Parts: sequence; C-alpha cells; structure tokens
Amino acid sequence: MVKKYKKELIFLKPVLKSRIWGGCRLRTEWGYESNLSGELGECWAVSCNDQADCEVAEGRYRGKHLSELWEEEPEIFGKRKDEEFPLLVKIIDAKEDLSVQVHPDDAYAKKHCGSKGKWECWYILDCPENAELIIGSSAHNKEELAQKMKDGEWASLFNRVPVKKGDFIAVEPGTIHAITAGVELLEVQQNSDVTYRIYDYDRLQGGKPRELHQKEALEVTHVPYYVKDEDVVHTDNRENTPQLLAVTEICRVWTLKVNGETRSDLSEGTFMIGSVLEGSGKIDGREVEKGMHFIVPKGYVMEKLEGKMRINLVASA
Ligand code: ZN
Repeated sequence: MVKKYKKELIFLKPVLKSRIWGGCRLRTEWGYESNLSGELGECWAVSCNDQADCEVAEGRYRGKHLSELWEEEPEIFGKRKDEEFPLLVKIIDAKEDLSVQVHPDDAYAKKHCGSKGKWECWYILDCPENAELIIGSSAHNKEELAQKMKDGEWASLFNRVPVKKGDFIAVEPGTIHAITAGVELLEVQQNSDVTYRIYDYDRLQGGKPRELHQKEALEVTHVPYYVKDEDVVHTDNRENTPQLLAVTEICRVWTLKVNGETRSDLSEGTFMIGSVLEGSGKIDGREVEKGMHFIVPKGYVMEKLEGKMRINLVASA
C-alpha cells in the first residue's frame, strides 16, 4: 500500500558562489554562511544541476538533494520523468559590473550545445540611486552590431535602462544584458549555463582576460532591439494579493507583499518556488524569514500567510 503523506513546503539550503565582482551583502544582509574565501557574488538558492544541487534543510526529505527529489518524487513536481529540472533561482550581489553577455534561445542552444537556452528575469532588491542596467543594443542590423563590437564602441552600442528597487525586468534570449555595480537582485532563469560574453571591461582574472564569445554572440543577438513597455514592470504597493510579473513559456512569476494575514490562492497545477525577500512571518504556522527558499509541491495551497514580508513566487510552466 502506498503511504499518503500530507504535503509540506520543502526548504532548501542555498549554495554560495564567490565571484570576482561579488560583494559582502550575501553574508552581512542575508546571513548566508560559507567557507569560501573572498567576496560572495551569487547565492544559488534553488538549483538542480552539476554546479549546485541544493540539499533539503528539514522535514521528511531532509538531506536529500533536489536532483534526488526530482527523480524519486515526481508527484511533488507534476512533471514527466524525462525532463530536467527547469528553473534556477539566484540572488546576486554585484559590487562591480558583471560582464556584458547574451544567451541563446532553446533552438540554438540545442543545436550547438545540446542544452536549453536561457530566458532570465530580474527582481531588483536594492540598487544605487540612478542605477541603470544594460538591456538591448542600439544596432539596427547585424553588420552594425559586428562593426561596433569589432571597434569596441561599447558606450554607443549598449542600451541602458534606469531601474529602482522593486522593478522587474524580463531578459529574453538574444538580448544583450548586464548587471551593473551596486545592484542586488533576485534572478529567475532557465536551468541552463549557455552564456556568450561580449565585453568584460578589459578586466583580468589571474592575470588574463576572461574568454569572450563574440562570434556566437553575434549569431544569437536579436537586432534591432526594441524597448517594450513590459520590459520593466514597476511593482506596486498592493498588499496581500499577488502581483503577476511575468507569464512566459518557461514560468509565471509573482511578487506578494504580506502585511497582516492572507492566503495564497495560487494553485497552478505544477510546483512553485518561493523566496522570502524581505521581512519575516509564518506560512501555515511555519516561521519564515528573509533568505529562505522553498518548493511548494504541486497541489499544495498556502492557506495562511502571516507577518510582514515580501515573497517571490515562481510557478513552473
Ligand atoms: Zn544572463
């Protein structure tokens, strides 16, 4: 006889990564601990790949890795057995500018790398006043893009978009992009690592510049790039009702500001990923606070959210 358990939220232990451009906020403001020396740049909060396989922190599945759950407990996710875990959720603390890059779409990545392409989106957690991100380019066609890349005309090539705390930006495959110094953000992306670096500010790592991939970048970059209204979504101040930020073939993303008590009526027929981004409170009696990340199993409805906190929710498509 198959045992029936009550479904529970599955809290994961994040994996920290040191980065040359990283800052100190993942330790000082998020309380993440790591034996890594130097500055941390990325927290891989919900990750299931060979670079980081998050471990369950507590409960029935404690000690299991996400990859094991994915294989052994398909009913949590509502997935087909042959698929890979589709998403990757990170917190990024950029003290310096990150390299300017572009990702391919699924078709190109499959053909050239045997993997998925990469759609990603950013929720701005903190940033300096007058912060700008690099999104898109000014090139009208591939010839112009190639010429400007060859000549290093970066300032005129890269399109800059002003952002402030609470803004949400979707970065489609084929869009040139970069996170800039001082920005802290939550990144939700396809579980893929195919990145073509266009420009790295002529920095050296271990005495050498990091590899660039301008040929591939030229192939996958969409030109001309048009700024669309939905490229930057300003989150509003609504409380206790989720604000939908993105609907794509990959996932749906919401932000939910809890103040007092509410319930989440989101039940998406698939699993969701929750991240507490600000404050603290309780979910169905379980205490949660900033920096916690969890899987909401398929069919689990969060009945009671209490406290003062902001949660990001992602439902796999
Ligand atoms: Zn990227």
